[in-house]
Amino acid sequence: MTHITPSDRAYVPFVSVDHMMRLVNGMGAEAFMRGLAAYIEQDFRRWPEFDKTPRVASHSPNGVIELMPTADRENYGFKYVNGHPKNVRDGFQTVTAFGVLSSVANGYPILLTEMTMLTALRTAATSALMGRYLAPRDVSTMAVIGNGAQCEFQALAFRALCGIERLRLHDIDPSAMRKAARNLAAEGFEITCCDSPENAVMGAQVITTCTADKQFATILTDNMVGAGVHINAIGGDCPGKTELHRDILLRSDIFVEYAPQTRVEGEIQQLAADHPVTELWQVLRGEKPGREAAEQITLFDSVGFAIEDFSALRFVKDRIVGTDCFERLDMLADPDDPRDLFGMLKRAA
Ligand code: NAD
Repeated sequence: MTHITPSDRAYVPFVSVDHMMRLVNGMGAEAFMRGLAAYIEQDFRRWPEFDKTPRVASHSPNGVIELMPTADRENYGFKYVNGHPKNVRDGFQTVTAFGVLSSVANGYPILLTEMTMLTALRTAATSALMGRYLAPRDVSTMAVIGNGAQCEFQALAFRALCGIERLRLHDIDPSAMRKAARNLAAEGFEITCCDSPENAVMGAQVITTCTADKQFATILTDNMVGAGVHINAIGGDCPGKTELHRDILLRSDIFVEYAPQTRVEGEIQQLAADHPVTELWQVLRGEKPGREAAEQITLFDSVGFAIEDFSALRFVKDRIVGTDCFERLDMLADPDDPRDLFGMLKRAA
């Protein structure tokens, strides 16, 4: 068992991939995402307290590398994340990430953690949290189009927070669909594998799109979306990378994380810059309504925002206390005399 004491101040708790998997499996993925969703909800309700900025993105022909910072009065957090849709072809992940949480008071990092697993968990927790406010009543069936790394996390979060029990899966790669069907059947879902997106959306009250392709793709066309549906669109998250036909957006009430970022990166990059959207925090604080009518089409145009990662970092920092799901990393030079950094170097020689 690892214990952090004040004298360990130069050591930064580090949560590796292995630690994260033990932490999540120890709680159960659904309980983990329920807990994480509560932290996200708490933080979005304190929206005015945060420093907010669109993420800093470096684009290249194959993908994007991004830094996602935010801070409140106590903590500063950031995530490093990439998005490279062609990676899967070469056996690499599309999305990988790590992140840091620091003390605002003295600037010292207080957590360094893997965030590839954690990003899938926080993305799904955010989607399902918003599903509670935007999906129709008594949902039971969700279509999931794009059955890669994010797919199972989305399904489990929507069961944990919204009660989804039946899944209709579709992926252009049948092996991805078979993988998701196998994993999710083992979790107790009723699964239907569908040969087309048209077939997948039949009878679904929630449609999740989580495909990866660096282009203006059309995963859903207007005729596929009936009245009363909630669309949870998570794969369109970069300039020039979308999943929905523009006509769907014109029929939907659109909910976004942080409009200045989503207008550049989300589905709404296809719309005029002043097209009305509602930010999630407004719904979570009760300042704007979520779903208002049974026939309404609601759309969560998810791109991923820094405060979700901040909440995830806070959640992990709290959950590792009293566990052995971290190690102490010697990553801060911290001489007894703060001005004698050089002396520290010489004494080590
Ligand atoms: P992945 O590469 O593991 O899976 C994507 C899947 O989509 C693949 O199985 C691929 O075959 C399938 N696909 C591609 N084009 C398709 C099409 N036209 N129809 C059906 N299926 C298609 O990627 P992932 O890690 O699961 O991420 C999925 C998407 O979600 C990516 O675009 C990623 O950038 C995005 N993402 C968003 C957030 C967020 O916060 N909004 C967070 C993480 C990932």
